[in-house]
Amino acid sequence: MRAVRFHGRGGQGAKTASRILGTAAFIEGFVAQDSPIYGAERRGAPVAAFTRIDTGPIKQRGIIACPDLVVIADASLIQDPAARVLDGIDERTAVFVNSPLTAEQLQPQTSLPGHLTTLDLTDIALQQFGKGGAISALLGAVAGRLIGLRRDSVREAIARELADLALAASQIERNQAAALQCYDAVRTVPVVPGAPQSTTSAQLQVPVYEPPTRGTARISAAANSILRETSGWRTFRPVLVPDKCNGCWLCFAYCPEGVISMTKDDRPVVDYAHCKGCQICVHECPTEALVAEREQEGGVAWTAR
Ligand code: SF4
Ligand code: SF4
Repeated sequence: MRAVRFHGRGGQGAKTASRILGTAAFIEGFVAQDSPIYGAERRGAPVAAFTRIDTGPIKQRGIIACPDLVVIADASLIQDPAARVLDGIDERTAVFVNSPLTAEQLQPQTSLPGHLTTLDLTDIALQQFGKGGAISALLGAVAGRLIGLRRDSVREAIARELADLALAASQIERNQAAALQCYDAVRTVPVVPGAPQSTTSAQLQVPVYEPPTRGTARISAAANSILRETSGWRTFRPVLVPDKCNGCWLCFAYCPEGVISMTKDDRPVVDYAHCKGCQICVHECPTEALVAEREQEGGVAWTAR
């Protein structure tokens, strides 16, 4: 069996990547199983997805505690304890990280054991699509290459999965082109099948239920989102081009985190400690006064609309 675990942030496409990988394997005659896990659905929050591939029936279910391959869509997740990226990784595990850094540069900065390989998928997406966003096809293609699936199976799997998401034919073709560029470019590392799988079931953290008081649910904790800085979730930051801003307040209204405030002369100010980089403000700004600027990682920077 091959056990592949994907880690991403909500909106990056880790779940769809796991489906693309499973479908590519299925096209080649394997049995495949995929499933995602996420908490409160929130763009930018850590997400994991799992793909199992075998030649016969797969009886295991649930999370993959000891993966053969880990695919990390966002290097910032490695430092995020909530993402639990390092769980079950040892010297034999193959690890892919979407990063502009080489494996040799990244390894000393992290505590990642195993066989590490990297590729800057975000850069390839920017070149192909002109903006950052979901990189599901690129992640799926890299995973397919690393576990030895054929190029044409990956290409077909991308077409099927993205068609299910109602993407236009032109968008699917662009995704296929970018994905196959990644498939060809990623440096392969050994993926050793058959990691020992945990037989204990994972414990779910179930919130404590408090019975409603006077017929309505009671929120018992005071506002606490200020305590959780989400700047580390960000791959792109919104940056204001003041001359283009007409002071319409739309960015203020659309920001799902409430981290944009307006000055007396109607100009937005972003609280970068809590901005998670979802780019909704960039997309909603009618005058293109907000641009998405790629966060620095290894000295690589991009500006994209
Ligand atoms: S949405 Fe754009 S134009 Fe409107 S206030 Fe925000 S930055 Fe300015
Ligand atoms: S400021 Fe923009 S990028 Fe940051 S959280 Fe708000 S909408 Fe998202």
